[in-house]
This record gives sequence, structure tokens and C-alpha cells, in this order.
Amino acid sequence: MLLKGKEVANQIKEEIAKEVQSIVSKGVRPPHLVAVLVGEDGASKTYVKNKELACEKVGFSSTLVRLPDTTSEEELLAKIEEINNDDEIDGLIVQLPLPKHISEHNITQAINPAKDVDGFHDVSVGRLSKGQDTFISATPYGITQLLDRYNIETKGKHCVVVGRSNIVGRPMSILMSGSNKTGNATVTICHRHTVDLKKYTVMADILIVAVGIPEFITADMVKEGATVIDVGITRVDADNKKGYVLKGDVNFDQVEEVAGYITPVPGGVGPMTIIGLMQNTLKSHQAKFNV
Ligand code: NAD
Repeated sequence: MLLKGKEVANQIKEEIAKEVQSIVSKGVRPPHLVAVLVGEDGASKTYVKNKELACEKVGFSSTLVRLPDTTSEEELLAKIEEINNDDEIDGLIVQLPLPKHISEHNITQAINPAKDVDGFHDVSVGRLSKGQDTFISATPYGITQLLDRYNIETKGKHCVVVGRSNIVGRPMSILMSGSNKTGNATVTICHRHTVDLKKYTVMADILIVAVGIPEFITADMVKEGATVIDVGITRVDADNKKGYVLKGDVNFDQVEEVAGYITPVPGGVGPMTIIGLMQNTLKSHQAKFNV
């Protein structure tokens, strides 16, 4: 069965839009998200555009700050400071990756944790690891909600996460093992140094893959009936108008034959990631206005 991220995301967007209408009807300004985009990376431009469109759809204000790839780290830090101090802004994201001369760590740590709607700041990650209320990184947050909306039981299940990045794999493993609603699973986290990956993936009731290698997971690596969440999005050259197609980390045609549930690419995890971001922005606004 397909886990239709796009459909669920549209439902949640409608729910958020209603909340925004209620906020505005009380005379309070709507939530405001600012995205900073440095440089001209094609995929990043698309991601930022999709976030802006989602803001528009739910009734948030959004501002895109575009900076050239020659921007220095100091200039970017100054821009972040300005946004941190602006009371009219609830959420700030700096689209990654950044040009090589800018430290991603320095930038994510410069964001005010109260506006850290991407959940990349050490404070957000630390709170997440301790099971405290925080901004949860958008992709893992979106995935837990997708599992929740399809009533997929996680408690007591074995969840295997492939990939240990700070933005997907690691926070995902923390959430799935936590005592939160879509948690309480026994979690195995695999990465590039895992020996005999298949030995672990075939044990998964829930398999979450975030490696960035197209069609890496094949049918023989998946247990019959497992829930398979494909986070990967890679542009693969193709003879079409765009010049590429998007491929997930899972060989969809093969794996859908064995999986109980599976996310498509595109239309699975991607739209749910944007939902995670919208919800974090709303949360930041609520913390300020409490309406
Ligand atoms: P990353 O490059 O930071 O991390 C990749 C991880 O895969 C690493 O932890 C590495 O150890 C692991 N890995 C690499 N080769 C492996 C192997 N042979 N066996 C097992 N593990 C291996 O990537 P990321 O930022 O987590 O992104 C992963 C993918 O997810 C990318 O395709 C990215 O575009 C996509 N992504 C999608 C969304 C979304 O909204 N759908 C969000 C974030 C990332």
C-alpha cells in the first residue's frame, strides 16, 4: 500500500490554514517564515520555492532572502543576527548546502533556538535526544506524522534506519526509539561502515532509508510486509524536458512487491518534510502569541 505523503500533506495544510485563519481573526499577525538562500544550487532553489508556495497555501507570511555565492560567512552571520532580532519573524531557515567557504556548523549555531524551525541547532538536537519538547528536524518530524496518520504501529517494532546524517538518519533514530507516540521501537542505525547491511535491513518491520544512492535498497533486502520509508531524492540524468528524473534510495518497482507500505518518490517524504517545517513555524508563533 502506498503511503501518500502528498495527500496527507494537503490534509495537514488545510488544518494549518484553519488555525491561521483563527489567529488572524483574533487580530494577530500570521506566522512568518524567512528562508535564506545563498548561491544558485538548482535543487536548493526548488526546495525553497516549494516552501514559499506552502507558506502561501496555509496563509503564512514568507520572505526569501537571496544572497550571492560570494557572500562571506561574516555577512551571512550579520544577516542571521538581523533576523534573530526581528520580532516580526517566527522561523528562520538557511537552506543547505552552503558554499564551501561558509561553515554550516557556525551558521546553524548562530540561529536563535527560538526561531530554529529546521531543528538543526545544538539546543534543538540536545532537547530532542532528551525527549524534551523542541523543534524537530522537519524530515523526521514529517515521517513520524505520516506513520501516525496511517496508524502504523511503531511500539515494540524493529526499526532499521539506514544513514546517520544530522538532518535525517540520526534524529530519526532518536524519535523512533523515544517514548513519544510514534516511537517506542527498537532501533538499529546503519551507515557506510555497516558490514553486511542486508543482514539488518531484512530484520526491519520499519525500514527508513536516507543514503542518497538511487535504488540502493532492493527487494531481497526487505522483509515481507515491512513499512518502507524512502527519504532519498537524487536527480538522475534523463532524456526528458527537465533533463533529469527524481529517484529514491529504494528500488520502488521491486520493493513494492514485498513491502506492506511504501512511500513513493516523489510524493512521499518530500511533501511531509515541508509540513514539518510549517508546523514548527506555527509552534514558534504560538510560543510568542499563545493564541
Ligand atoms: P548524507 O549524505 O548527509 O548522509 C548519507 C548517509 O548514508 C551517511 O550517514 C552514510 O553513512 C550513509 N551511507 C552512505 N553510503 C552507504 C552505504 N553504502 N551503506 C549504508 N549507509 C550508507 O545524506 P542526507 O542529508 O541524510 O540525505 C540522504 C538522502 O535523502 C539524499 O538523497 C537527500 O537528497 C535526501 N533528503 C530528502 C529529504 C526529503 O525531504 N525527502 C530531506 C533531506 C534529505
